[in-house]
Amino acid sequence: MKITGITATPIRVPRAGTFTSSLGRSAYTENAVVEIETDGDITGIGEICSIWDRKGRGQAEDINDLLAEVLVGRDPFRIAETHAVMDALLHRSYPAKAGVDMALYDIVGKALDTPVYNLLGGMVRDRVLLSHSLSMGEPEQVARQAADLVKKGYKTVKVKIGMDQRADLATVEAVRKRIGDDIVLRVDANMGWPTPKEAVRNIKALEPFHLELVEQPLHFSDLEGLRHVREHVDTPIMADESVWVPGDAIACIRAGAVDIFNVYLAEAGGIYPAAQIFAIAEAARLPCIIGSMPELGIGTSAQAHLAFAMRNLGYGSDVNGVVYHADDIIHETLRIEDGYILPPPGPGLGVSLNPDKVEAYRIK
Ligand code: MG
Repeated sequence: MKITGITATPIRVPRAGTFTSSLGRSAYTENAVVEIETDGDITGIGEICSIWDRKGRGQAEDINDLLAEVLVGRDPFRIAETHAVMDALLHRSYPAKAGVDMALYDIVGKALDTPVYNLLGGMVRDRVLLSHSLSMGEPEQVARQAADLVKKGYKTVKVKIGMDQRADLATVEAVRKRIGDDIVLRVDANMGWPTPKEAVRNIKALEPFHLELVEQPLHFSDLEGLRHVREHVDTPIMADESVWVPGDAIACIRAGAVDIFNVYLAEAGGIYPAAQIFAIAEAARLPCIIGSMPELGIGTSAQAHLAFAMRNLGYGSDVNGVVYHADDIIHETLRIEDGYILPPPGPGLGVSLNPDKVEAYRIK
């Protein structure tokens, strides 16, 4: 089989509600849809998901203007080799590479008539535990969001912190009070704290509220600082912005910087390198979760296939980007029930593109 054409179409889809973190406010997601055509009558679909690096629009240009030309004519089954070709041509642009990677896995799965998780070692679980993030706001308003999610079946909620410690304390306290002790509570500082000592002091002040973990307390590059924090608090520390690609995971492990990795398909460059991060972490006896940009239906399905196949997936994952949006660009509705996502129907990624929706949300 040969690739005969690749296109990336940037889209802007409204969020279900404006989302605020220490990284900013988002009312829309700007991703891009990747379509890879073959001479075998199979078209694979992928999604470029990014809140960074010029978002879907800029990343789509990397595919349309650069990658498409070198990938046409190649065998879509040669996923590992295709990653080497993309990496040689383009230093970063991981979300664009991830869009290509997803579409290739979709093609291979469809050609073999099997779900993508079967290409990754097969299922190790029947459902994947989810976490849901709370948009920043007044403490009572954030607590209300948490209560609504618990009512929907969520067992893990994540509070976005890292802007103002007094406000953070008030918010975490309000949320914990509202959801009770049985619901898992985690916090994400999104690199918001300036020094290791300040991070330690802030985390210790939050520990009475029984946090599952603290995500990215310091700047992504401060691995020594993360190690200091990790050694001075009881709460596990999760790397998010510090781990994009497999090499970052090695650096974090060497530095003793973290207890958990938050792995993003978009930041790793796709399913293939994301699975490598899981393998590196597993060898170091560390768990990973899967994080969200947030993805629409195609990206969420790709995350789900990885989540069903990785042994060291621990804690709740953000494999539910679809629920952060007011609409989607696929025909199917991914099954999210009682705080878990269920396997996407196969073969390939198990979802199909709705061309009318793509046209409606296309960035012109
Ligand atoms: Mg994060």
